[in-house]
Amino acid sequence: MFLTISTSGAPDRPATDLGFLLHKHPGRAQSFPTSHGLAHVFYPEATEERCTAALLLEIDPIALVRRGRGKGRGGSPDFALAQYVNDRPYAASSLLAVALSTVFKSAMKGRCDKRPELAEAALPLVVSVPALPARAGQDGGADLVRRLFEPLGWQVEAEPVPLDPRFPEWGDSRYVGLTLTGTLRLADALSQLYILLPVLDDAKHYWVSPDEVDKLLRAGGVSRSDSDKGGGGRREGGWLGTHPELALITRRYLARRWSLARSAMEQLELARLAEADDREVEEIDNAVPEVETEAEAAEEKPTPLAVQRRSAIVEVLRAAGATRVVDLGCGEGSLVGALLKEPRITEVLGVDVSSRALGIAARRLHLDRMSERQAARVRLVQGALTYTDARLTGYDAAVLSEVIEHVDPPRLPALEYAVFGSARPGTVVVTTPNVEYNVRWESLPAGHVRHADHRFEWDRAQFRAWAEQVAAGYGYTVGFAPVGPDDPEVGPPTQLATFTRTAVPAAQESAAQEAVTR
Ligand code: SAH
Repeated sequence: MFLTISTSGAPDRPATDLGFLLHKHPGRAQSFPTSHGLAHVFYPEATEERCTAALLLEIDPIALVRRGRGKGRGGSPDFALAQYVNDRPYAASSLLAVALSTVFKSAMKGRCDKRPELAEAALPLVVSVPALPARAGQDGGADLVRRLFEPLGWQVEAEPVPLDPRFPEWGDSRYVGLTLTGTLRLADALSQLYILLPVLDDAKHYWVSPDEVDKLLRAGGVSRSDSDKGGGGRREGGWLGTHPELALITRRYLARRWSLARSAMEQLELARLAEADDREVEEIDNAVPEVETEAEAAEEKPTPLAVQRRSAIVEVLRAAGATRVVDLGCGEGSLVGALLKEPRITEVLGVDVSSRALGIAARRLHLDRMSERQAARVRLVQGALTYTDARLTGYDAAVLSEVIEHVDPPRLPALEYAVFGSARPGTVVVTTPNVEYNVRWESLPAGHVRHADHRFEWDRAQFRAWAEQVAAGYGYTVGFAPVGPDDPEVGPPTQLATFTRTAVPAAQESAAQEAVTR
């Protein structure tokens, strides 16, 4: 197994700086024992103009078998000879990724104490992997290699390797020779290889364990805790959180272990959404003269639309007799505050993906200074609405106020299931902009949505169609009401739907039936 990383020099920076970054001296060949064989690091070339570091992993296939790993996985029969005669020794795979992370640990973390500015710099890099398994067909081949690396800024050359160059009629092998060219931080390049080599290795995974989830998230630049937000230069979400093939990468990296993959997906989604939301908050903080702020300014006269929206929602909840309410996507907590003013309401749970918004909500609501009795009525928790969440069950009513339009349309069914299928409150109130009304916002240029983060804005027919389909699918009835001035031509600025549960969930139904027949 073999991999090289090359860089070229610049007037202010000799190419041999690569040695500093990798913490391996260009003048020496070094060997390191890893769990699957010896890893050698050496530099085939090391001049001021060009420097190449090579990692050669000498796999011991017999040791691999003796370790008892890799047996009977991946659906392959326990064919005795295949355990010894296989591509492990030469095809880049999970094992090479493990060696990378062992030998270049500090470099992968972006640490370079002597030259910290070097670790932060994007360098011209060429990565070459002569034999990379990439089986053609569904989800494979050179095409998958491109889909994985191109979104990260690499120029990808993936040349099929002939089975035997002496017999071209035999065709290609299932390997490609990969060359990646790009200008990236070395740490990012290494962490991308660390994750994506195993993704391409569809054979076996020798080392999947629960802490692989953490490794995946860490290597992808995703931090799991809020505490390191803003520190260390790395942003939540990292390169992995925004990768268009995120689902495939997570699934294959974790060797199709669904439960693990799901939890990794959740963490990544949280980080990605939180980042998107932070951008949004920052934009507003910086008072960029955005469409949104102008539209909001328009809302300020005469009665702010946001106030009208809150009153309308509170009115619906009052009519439904709700006392325990969950505000999904509560943002900075304005509705939570309004609900706490209602004596009927005994409990409010605010949920949002953005820890920053929740922080602002906690401050605005003065959670820290509340009397114990008041504080017992309210709770704010972080969560992603596209995942089922046991904390959301058992409430009378749920509110999605100006939230659905922030969710990518392909993720919407997941939110529908989490809210209407899993949490299943008696009443669900949903509000969303009516795009037809946008022509009435004088300051909104034609064809623009009201907010940069809106993934869509629906007209009245679209909202109705969506709501009716959701209601029918989950055993609810639905009614509609306008919020704000109901323009005869284009309708109101905000549209509101109230869903009322009619059917009991299937599980309860059968339990009830059983009780009746007994
Ligand atoms: N409900 C508030 C805030 C609306 S802004 C109001 O009416 O004023 C949309 C909010 O939804 C943001 O705070 C955003 O962080 C949150 N959000 C968007 N997608 C989410 C998701 N998938 N899970 C949880 N919260 C989400």
